[in-house]
Order: sequence, then C-alpha cells, then structure tokens
Amino acid sequence: MTAGAGEAGERRKPVLFLDIDGPLNPYAAMPDHLPTGYQEHHLMPPRWEEMERARLEAWGRPWAEPRPLPVWLNPAHGAQLAALPYELAWASTWEEDANGFVGPLIGLPPLPWITWEGTLIGEPGPLYWKTPEVVAAAAGRPFAWVDDEVTAADETWVATHHPAPALLLRIDPNVGLREPDFERLRAWAAGLR
Ligand SMILES: [Mg+2]
Repeated sequence: MTAGAGEAGERRKPVLFLDIDGPLNPYAAMPDHLPTGYQEHHLMPPRWEEMERARLEAWGRPWAEPRPLPVWLNPAHGAQLAALPYELAWASTWEEDANGFVGPLIGLPPLPWITWEGTLIGEPGPLYWKTPEVVAAAAGRPFAWVDDEVTAADETWVATHHPAPALLLRIDPNVGLREPDFERLRAWAAGLR
C-alpha cells in the first residue's frame, strides 16, 4: 500500500481499511432488495471489462458486448466515512479502480489502496487471503477493517501477528454499512486514546 505513515500531526489516527463489495456495495441483496438510500450504478472498470470479454470468448460469443457491473452505493457513505477519526484506505479487489470508479460516486477523495501482489485472491482456507496483506499494510499501526468475509480465524491471526490494537468488523453484505457500524468505529477509535 502507498499509505505511508500519515501526515505529521495525524500519526495517532488509526487506519480504517475499507472493503467495497459487502460494506459499501451490498451485493448479496441483489437484484431485488435495494436498501434505502442506495443508488444503482453500472460500472465498467477495465479489469471487469477484461474478465467479461474473456468470459464471453470462453462461451464462444466474442462478438457480444461486455455488460457493465451493477453496483449499489449509498452516496451518504463518503461523508460519513470521511467524518470518522481514521485515515481511510481501500482494502478491496477493486484496488486503484476504487478511486476511479467508486470513491467519486460517494464523494470520497482518492485514497491509498492495497495491491494484492503475490496474493492468491480467493484462496480458500480458515485464514482469509486478505488478512496478512492488511496487517502488512497497517505496518504496526492501530487499524479497523470493515469487510464481509472476516471471521474469528482472522481475529486470532491478527491478535498474534499485529502489535497494535485492531478491530475486524464483519459487515453483512445484504445490508452494507449501517449506523451501528459507524458508531462502533467511532467508539473503538475513542477507546484508543
Ligand atoms: Mg467483500
């Protein structure tokens, strides 16, 4: 990640790592249950287009037009996240496309992001494949992490591999981030002081 250690004077703020699909995009509620406050977008990040073209080719339909990715976002989330006492960073498979496609739709400025270099994305196992990378990106700083796939196994691993406090907050991908989650994040950051 290119987050660095933060600006002078902001060193004591914890980092908040943001997953997109689940916390910001409640994909599990698709296609029929758009939660209140959300808007539907149809996005075509370059990597999605590439995957779609490969899929169409594999299906013997290379002439077909790739379909954009439906994404549900709550435009209020950007301001709510920016108001939290954290330095924000993306921890999403969208990588830098989070800044190009998702951030602007919810009013977030460009944020540092984790690149999953050398990570076997989607590798099954008790430990979530993102976890070691998130801990590495935190570089010893206190951090919170919102994601729909963190489990107790990740909490245990973080507790033994990360020297500072960490909050792993599992978000239901049917509903995305909600006010109690924001409250929890605020309370946790306040408890660090
Ligand atoms: Mg997710």
